[in-house]
Amino acid sequence: MEQTFIMVKPDGVQRNLVGDILQRFEKKGFKLVAAKLMQISPELAEEHYGEHKDKPFFGELTGFITSGPVFAMVWEGENVIATARKMMGATNPAESDIGTVRGDFGLTVGKNVIHGSDSPESAEREIGLFFNKEDLVTYNKDHDQWIY
Ligand code: ADP
Ligand code: MG
Repeated sequence: MEQTFIMVKPDGVQRNLVGDILQRFEKKGFKLVAAKLMQISPELAEEHYGEHKDKPFFGELTGFITSGPVFAMVWEGENVIATARKMMGATNPAESDIGTVRGDFGLTVGKNVIHGSDSPESAEREIGLFFNKEDLVTYNKDHDQWIY
């Protein structure tokens, strides 16, 4: 089953949006397989955002993502990578649809509340950067075993 890496950025943690964002993915029906509050090191920030290292905003981006704790998650489900991108909204909150995370909570492209993997390749890479294999919990959400 497909998995993706989702992260509430430092602005989202500071603004108490972790619960709301987590609940959106829960209510959608995806399965949480890993989650942690953590501080990103400068090395991890540069690795994670390596594709942007030549962009003019790279310093601002890595400075921001290491400026406070983030809430890192792995979500699982059918088509979760593309669907999570839709739920996040466009990169620039000025262009994000209302009803998306960035459309509802974001104002500027630099502080746009949430990160999500953009392809199966980046999902695998980012999950590997942030989590160990044993952090990913395998379980069944079919609770028939508790219902009589
Ligand atoms: P996304 O997060 O939607 O995948 P990108 O991968 O293009 O977007 O960019 C990574 C992050 O870099 C964005 O989420 C945003 O916070 C930041 N960013 C992108 N473009 C700019 C910009 N022009 N100025 C400042 N920050 C930017
Ligand atoms: Mg991206």
